[in-house]
Amino acid sequence: MKVSCEKMLVVDLTREKIKITPMRSDLEQDYIGGEGTGTRLVWEMVPAGIHPLDPKNTIVFATAPLNGTMFPAGPRGTIVFKSPETGTISMSNIGGHWAARLKMAGYALVAITGKAKRPVYLFIDHDRVELRNAGALWGKPIPDMEQTIRNQIGDQIIEVVGIGPAGENMVRFANIANSVRFAGKGGGGALMGAKNLKALAVRGSGTVHCHDIWRLREISFEIMKAMEQSPPIEMLKTGSSAAFNQAVAELQDFGYKHFQEGGFKYGYKLYIENIKRQVKQEHRACYGCPIGCGIITKVTRGKFKGTESSGPMAEAYWNWGWKCGITDVGAIVKITKLCNENGVCVNSASEPVAWVMECQQKGLISTEETGVRVRWGDGAASIKLLEMIITRKGFGNVLAEGVKKAAEMSGPQTEELAMHVKGMELDADEWRQNKASALTAATAERGASVVRPWGFPIDMGVLFPEITGLKEKPDPDQEEGIASWYKPYKEFTIASNCMGVCLYPGLFNIPTVKQTLEAYSAITGRGLTLKEYLKVGERTVCMQRAFNAREGFTRTDDTLPRRILLEPIKGGPNDGRRIRNFNAMLDEYYAESGFDKKTGWPTRSKLKELGLQDVADELYGKRK
Ligand code: SF4
Repeated sequence: MKVSCEKMLVVDLTREKIKITPMRSDLEQDYIGGEGTGTRLVWEMVPAGIHPLDPKNTIVFATAPLNGTMFPAGPRGTIVFKSPETGTISMSNIGGHWAARLKMAGYALVAITGKAKRPVYLFIDHDRVELRNAGALWGKPIPDMEQTIRNQIGDQIIEVVGIGPAGENMVRFANIANSVRFAGKGGGGALMGAKNLKALAVRGSGTVHCHDIWRLREISFEIMKAMEQSPPIEMLKTGSSAAFNQAVAELQDFGYKHFQEGGFKYGYKLYIENIKRQVKQEHRACYGCPIGCGIITKVTRGKFKGTESSGPMAEAYWNWGWKCGITDVGAIVKITKLCNENGVCVNSASEPVAWVMECQQKGLISTEETGVRVRWGDGAASIKLLEMIITRKGFGNVLAEGVKKAAEMSGPQTEELAMHVKGMELDADEWRQNKASALTAATAERGASVVRPWGFPIDMGVLFPEITGLKEKPDPDQEEGIASWYKPYKEFTIASNCMGVCLYPGLFNIPTVKQTLEAYSAITGRGLTLKEYLKVGERTVCMQRAFNAREGFTRTDDTLPRRILLEPIKGGPNDGRRIRNFNAMLDEYYAESGFDKKTGWPTRSKLKELGLQDVADELYGKRK
C-alpha cells in the first residue's frame, strides 16, 4: 500500500533524542490519519494511570490524507493526548497551514514525549530536526512567539503552533494555537507547558505525493463548484461561522444564564448584521480552502474601539453571549483576544466565568473570595476574571483548574452548578432541545463536546441519508430508536477527522462522502468503501473508549449535569423540552455500538471484530 506521507518523527524531550522512522503502514491502513492515528499512538505510548502532566504523557500531532493537497477544505490535522483537564483521551483538530507544511516537510505525524530541562521549541526543516532554546520565547503571547520564531529563522512562511502564557501556567483548558487557528478543548497547551515545550515550527517545501493528480483536480473542481452554489457556504464566506448565530438561536437556542433560561431576548444583538455594524472584518483561509471563514476583527465603536483580534467565531458569541449574557460585541472581541493571544480555549474559559456568575447570583461564593463581582452580562468584570485565570492570580488560580475542580474546592452546592461532563466544560448549545445533542454531550470520549457529532445539520434537514439511513428529519423529542442513526453519524464525523475534512462545509454535505472517498483514492491509490470508512470511525471511537476504560472511566461518567438531565428548558423556542429517559437512550446507544451495558466499555467481541485483539487482551486479560 502506498503511504501518502513517508515518515514519522518521535521526539523524547528528556533524553533530547529525535528519531525519524518510516511511517507505520498499519496506522494508515487501520486509521487513515489525523484523529485515528493519533489515538492509536497515544494508546500505545501513554502508560496507563499516569498523571496527565507526567513527562511520560505523549502528545501526537497527526496529519491527515487530505492535508497539503489541492482538495478544498481538507486542511485539518489533529492533536491527541491524555487530557490534563479530564484525564480522558483528548483530541483537538486545527486548520490553517500547519498540517499541510508538516506533510510538505515529509512527515505524517510527530509524537513528543518526556520533559525538556529548559524551555525549547522543535524546529522541523525536512530531515533537519532540532530542539532549540526557547528561553527568549517563554512568557510571550502566541502572535509574538510566532513572529519571533519566524524572525529568528529568517523565514516568514515558517508555520508555527505553540502555547501562550496560559499554557506555561498550566491552565487546564490552555490550548495550542498560532495567530489565526486554535486547537481548543482538553488542555493540550497545559501539557506542552508541563513539557517545557513552547512551540513546533515547520519549514515544509516539498510536494505531497498524489497518486492521480488529474482525478484529484476533477473532484476538487466539482467541490468548488458546489461551494460556489451553496447559500450556507456563501454565509461562511461573508460572515464566518457567526453568520449562523441567528439560525442556531432560532432553531436550537442556547442556554441563557448558564442554562437557567431559554430564549435570551437580547440575543439578537449578536446576530451577524448587528455584529458587522460594530466591527471591521478581514477574512483568512486555511490551506487550499476557497471559503476563508477565518476572520480578523477590529472593533470600530464603543468602549473597546480599536481592539483587534482573530475571531471571534460563532462559538465565542454563543458561550460569552448567551451563556454569560454579554451583548457588547466589543467586549466579546476583547475576551477572544485575551484567550487567543494567551492561549486559552475561548469556549471552555466561558464556563468557569458563568459558574462564578451563577454562584454569586445565588450567594454561594462571595466577592471577597473571588476578588471581583461578576454579574450576568458584565463584560468588563468577565475580562478581569479571565486575566486572573490566565495568570493564576487569586481566585483565578482555582478557576484555572477547570470548573469541575473549582467547584469541588468550593463546596457541594456549587458542584451542582458546574456545567461539565467528565470535567470538560459544557458549551452553550441547548442540549435538551434534541436528544441526539444530549447523547453527544454525555458520551463524547473527550468529555462534553458539541461536534462529536453535531446535531445542527440534522435539525436543519441535512440528513446524510447514505450514512444515517434517515429519510426525514427526526422528531426532536424522540428518544427511542435514535441510536440506530446516531451511531453511524458519529462514526462518520470521527472518520472525517481522520481524513482531514473541515467541519464547516462538511456540515452542509460539501464535499459529499463519495467525493471525499474518491479524493482519498486519487491521493493514496487506495480504494476505500463507505463501509470501510465508517469502520475507521468506529475503530477510532472504540480505541478512545478503551483508553478511557483503562483509565477507570465507566458508564457513570457518560452522563450530564443535573440541570440538563432533570430540568426542562424554561422559555424560548424549545420551551418545556426535556430529557425524559436518558438511561434508556444510553442503553440503546451502547447496544447499537457493542459497548457493555454496565461499564460502557467496548466489549471483547466488538474489539475483536475491529481487529483490536491486543486492546481486548489488555482491557480484559488474555484468554487462556
Ligand atoms: S471552511 Fe474555514 S475553517 Fe474550514 S478549511 Fe475553509 S477557511 Fe478553514
